[in-house]
Amino acid sequence: MTEIKTLIFPLVLAIGISFGSFLTMLIPRIYEKESGIFLGRSHCRFCKKTLRARDLIPIASYLINRGKCAFCKEKISTLYPTIEISTAIMFALIYTKFPFENISGIPLTAFYLTISFALIFTFFYDIKYLEISDIILLPAIALGLIKSFVTDSPSFESALIGGLIGISFFLIQILLSKGKWVGAGDIRIGALMGILLGWQMTLTALVISYVIGSIVSIGLLAAKQKEIGGKIALGPFLVSGTFITLFFGENIINWYLNLFL
Ligand SMILES: [Zn+2]
Repeated sequence: MTEIKTLIFPLVLAIGISFGSFLTMLIPRIYEKESGIFLGRSHCRFCKKTLRARDLIPIASYLINRGKCAFCKEKISTLYPTIEISTAIMFALIYTKFPFENISGIPLTAFYLTISFALIFTFFYDIKYLEISDIILLPAIALGLIKSFVTDSPSFESALIGGLIGISFFLIQILLSKGKWVGAGDIRIGALMGILLGWQMTLTALVISYVIGSIVSIGLLAAKQKEIGGKIALGPFLVSGTFITLFFGENIINWYLNLFL
């Protein structure tokens, strides 16, 4: 890493932890459609007491309070520190993949950090509520479209075709299964996936998502965590497939093509 990257890296990690912490508050608030999503002090979801500054330090507060509310001692889900740590790691990875060394490079890094935020939100929201929320996803799709206008990777045409592939892939399944296999929300993730990756990489991402989905579903069935026919959220697999393709898409395609040479 060059010097400037080494200096910025810890800052990106810190921003990742803060945004992860913001997500732990945002996800339940959006679900419960509370007023003042972006304002207002955080409070305990059980005893409704307003949390003090020392209860709001990401990860550290969870460890110090031993995973319980400081007031009512009600257990806090391990999902919260998981969200904080995952966001920090994803932001660090995004910065490693799309770093900037001067001011003109900042918008591209910021773009990928913003999209990651939307994807991480979707990942955990779907795990927690088995639902896709449009509030963060639709602006991310719009942002992706704007970005494909101004940069070449992917080109605007490729992004548009990718988006259409993502949309039709899920729309066909919804029509065939009358909405039993996938939900309408998955169409939105498909659109974002396609616009972000371009059409070739979208096909790769869909295959990876379904491979991961099959492995995890079989694992859950074997561990008797889910019953056959029980609902498993598709969103987390689509988000994982999108991230993996964003980072390793080229390598995976080359590896696959080499199998036949
Ligand atoms: Zn409490």
